[in-house]
Amino acid sequence: MRIEVDTGRCCGAGMCALTAPAVFDQDEEAGTVLLLTPEPLASQFAAVQEAAQLCPAGAITILEDKA
Ligand code: SF4
Repeated sequence: MRIEVDTGRCCGAGMCALTAPAVFDQDEEAGTVLLLTPEPLASQFAAVQEAAQLCPAGAITILEDKA
């Protein structure tokens, strides 16, 4: 799994960092999302998926590996 974030769409709601803090953080100055882990472990998938669904800006894209 790979993740992309669109900081241009991010409105700084912070839902991602609350939901999956190992993967997302927020820039302290800009308030926008920081992607800590672009290629999370499978064990983090559920939290990442939840974060993507909760993001009000639709700024998180999950790209699943084609096995
Ligand atoms: S939940 Fe979405 S809008 Fe909010 S900080 Fe994360 S990426 Fe940005």
